Amino acid sequence: MKKKARLWDSLEENKVKCHVCANECIIMPGKVGICRTRKNFDGELYTLIYGSLISKGSLDPIEKKPLYNFWPGATAYSIASIGCSFKCQNCQNWNISQANPSDNGKNGFYTLEGLENRRMSLVEMPPEELVKRVVKSGAKTLAYTYNEPLIWHEYILDTTKLLKKKDIKTILVTNGYSTPEATKELIEVGIDAANIDIKAMSDDFYKKICGVKSVQPVLDTAKRLKSNGIHVEITNLIIPDLNDSREDLSKLSNWIVENLGKNTPTHFSAYHPDFKMPSMKRTPYETLDLAYNVANETGINYIYVGNIRHEKGGNTYCPKCNHLIIGRSGYSFTKIDISDHKKCPNCDYDFSTDIIGEINKKPSHRYEFL
Ligand code: SF4
Ligand code: SF4
Repeated sequence: MKKKARLWDSLEENKVKCHVCANECIIMPGKVGICRTRKNFDGELYTLIYGSLISKGSLDPIEKKPLYNFWPGATAYSIASIGCSFKCQNCQNWNISQANPSDNGKNGFYTLEGLENRRMSLVEMPPEELVKRVVKSGAKTLAYTYNEPLIWHEYILDTTKLLKKKDIKTILVTNGYSTPEATKELIEVGIDAANIDIKAMSDDFYKKICGVKSVQPVLDTAKRLKSNGIHVEITNLIIPDLNDSREDLSKLSNWIVENLGKNTPTHFSAYHPDFKMPSMKRTPYETLDLAYNVANETGINYIYVGNIRHEKGGNTYCPKCNHLIIGRSGYSFTKIDISDHKKCPNCDYDFSTDIIGEINKKPSHRYEFL
């Protein structure tokens, strides 16, 4: 749906400047920004995707986001739209992230060569309707995920406001390329958690692979969210030869410890070839193991490994005595050994600020396309 956008300035000759993400596009009349979802109509900026969903949503395990220390075992009602502020060469959701919305937000169009005229119908979902559906599903959390949620700013603000009234927690699964103004609004509306993708610690990687200028806005967003009490977990997708050296992994781990704290859950994910990088290698087990060990040596207490089986990488251990608190196989629990007051049964370590929300020991109803 088309709706007047927030956070933009008028410039000369009917141009506008958008402040919703760190691209801060200057947009000429009749043109769209880099994300293709914000358009200048006669000197006024509109979002084209307000309430435009790719589907009615799906029920996912919260661990799929991935969030391991936030409402473990919860169901995340997951929704997405189209568009993204990045153009990652390896995007696994390129069909939606790189699509163009129509001016009324009712349809999306693929942008890939040869598919330009293929249309996808988008589902119109006003905020009140979404809230009704989430409540009916029984999910305790809602995740804005799959495409980039930061460019969905207005819809996220409006839906989060309503979901809070129903005590449903909201989650951003994001590239973190925000601005101080947009982040402030997300904090004020009460976003509960974010998984932020730090793709690499170098501007060079962000320029070459993602098509944006710098990693710095991502780091700033992570710090801002964390320092304002939002639960933050970090994901780093490790791509062979691009961001997989000991130095890369050490730089990232050190930054996390120094800026977000050693109790920040950190997920290292295995890459598999996709989109414009089909000939790259998969990330080998040894690299994921190296990442785990480097993060461990740096002092990170909650380290997870995804997209590949790793003997420790699915589990949550006590930072004080190393007791296995939550064992996982994929998105299922193999063991839960923590007291009802979230204390370690072995050394009494208190997890109440490290693991947020209730632990649902018998998760169910977590895989459904709605
Ligand atoms: S959200 Fe970002 S990419 Fe989209 S128009 Fe605004 S500044 Fe540009
Ligand atoms: S930020 Fe995520 S959704 Fe956007 S292009 Fe990159 S991988 Fe795809």
